[in-house]
Amino acid sequence: APDGGAQRRGFGRHGLLIDGAWREASDGGRAEIRSPFDGSVVGEVAVATAVDADAAVAAAVRGAARWRRTPAHERAAILLRAAELAEARSAELAATISAENGKPLAEALGEARRSGAIIRLAAHEGTQLYGDSLPVDANPGTGQDKVGFTLRQPVGVVVAITPFNYPALLVLHKVGPALASGNAVVLKPASATPLTAIALARVFEEAGLPAGVLSVLTGSGGVLGDALVQDPRVRKISFTGSTGVGERISALAGIKKLSLELGASSPTLVLPGADIERAASAVAAGGYANAGQVCISVQRVVVHRAVEADFLAALQPKVEAIRMGDPFAEGTALGPLIARREAERVERSISRAVADGARLLTGGERDGAFVSPAIVTGVDTRHPLAQEELFGPAVAVTAVDSFDAAIDAANGTPYGLAAGVFGGTLAEGVRAMREIDAGSVHLGWTPLWRADLMPYGGFKASGYGKEGIRSTVEEMTEVKTVILHG
Ligand code: NAD
Repeated sequence: APDGGAQRRGFGRHGLLIDGAWREASDGGRAEIRSPFDGSVVGEVAVATAVDADAAVAAAVRGAARWRRTPAHERAAILLRAAELAEARSAELAATISAENGKPLAEALGEARRSGAIIRLAAHEGTQLYGDSLPVDANPGTGQDKVGFTLRQPVGVVVAITPFNYPALLVLHKVGPALASGNAVVLKPASATPLTAIALARVFEEAGLPAGVLSVLTGSGGVLGDALVQDPRVRKISFTGSTGVGERISALAGIKKLSLELGASSPTLVLPGADIERAASAVAAGGYANAGQVCISVQRVVVHRAVEADFLAALQPKVEAIRMGDPFAEGTALGPLIARREAERVERSISRAVADGARLLTGGERDGAFVSPAIVTGVDTRHPLAQEELFGPAVAVTAVDSFDAAIDAANGTPYGLAAGVFGGTLAEGVRAMREIDAGSVHLGWTPLWRADLMPYGGFKASGYGKEGIRSTVEEMTEVKTVILHG
């Protein structure tokens, strides 16, 4: 059996990456990074101050000026080298992810292996900055003797702020396309999971990325956030995280481009005609992956009463078979939440629903930072367990009597990130695709599915802007119109 203890130790002591050098924080501040599984120290990072943020942005301004003049094929070559390095290091990256985030090693390996692929797709997309030729002579009386076209150019300095739940993917979804399209990036990774971001920054550095083009500021979002968000030299903020922090950023950002990938309470509809085994297996995977700490986790199942009993009978044994334990132990499918206080919050949300009349079919017991995988039935759509993002290993089941009621329940929260549908008639499937207010709708699966290149983003309180390699390149570039006057 692998020695989890040994694998959890030794991810190093790191500084801040500013202007191509790893340095201490301006006030020498440091923080230990601990495993959510056993509290052991897995690494140590510098804690950046507002002075460091200022230095990183200044370096990024210089880096951006240089990088945008680097030909696209040279930028792509550096990114392709980075992709190879990331692929070669996937085992080490996975161990880092698992150690600081607590997710099972097998899940972390899946995440690590996607890293190289994301960088590779971004490298390609950065060579595709096409523009349009403008038929200006079609506008009567103005364009006869002129030629017009558009250029797609990098915005300049991008601030990327990322959450803890996918420490590699969510960093690369921003950094890959931003660098590929000629921007400089100041990255502020989640305070709980900076070691993966640092490992990825080293990959770009070793691949030959010039100084100042990527900076990494580890430390507290509360301390660094406002300074970075309000800095007029920053042209774009790409944020993934909670809706509360997203609201604050939106209020403070001023006139700059902004993308917000926020929280959710994603529904899965199970309708008559559904393949119950398939739906139950997909929900058992999609509701508990990463201990439910996924923005597109299956938080809610809206099931037609005609198939509710069969669905729950199929789901329960699958959920009870999810093995909880040491993320580094073979066969573990459910690790701890990111912190004990988060597990306590999830436990409270479940108890409150039960106190208000819902039924705990299985799980929901807390032990330290662990919560056993839970199914809560009879949850009213208006209840906080359905309305608020849970971000934990529980699925809330609501039974409805009609297709229309299922659509109303799906749309009946402030969020709108993603949804899934099993069963129903073809006509209902088409209605679901059209009528569910969410950034993605999956027919025949749950919301927990993502290809890195697909446009991805929320409606309503789940945010705005689209991520996904091509969409991110679009969001991190500006279209300039150029007219030649004859
Ligand atoms: P969080 O909002 O607490 O933190 C996200 C990042 O913001 C961290 O780096 C944090 O340090 C930083 N931050 C904190 N305060 C800040 C401030 N005042 N200004 C600027 N930055 C600040 O989120 P989390 O707990 O790390 O992640 C979980 C949340 O992320 C969930 O709500 C989840 O739904 C969301 N999420 C969304 C998506 C998506 O694509 N929609 C993907 C993953 C996670």
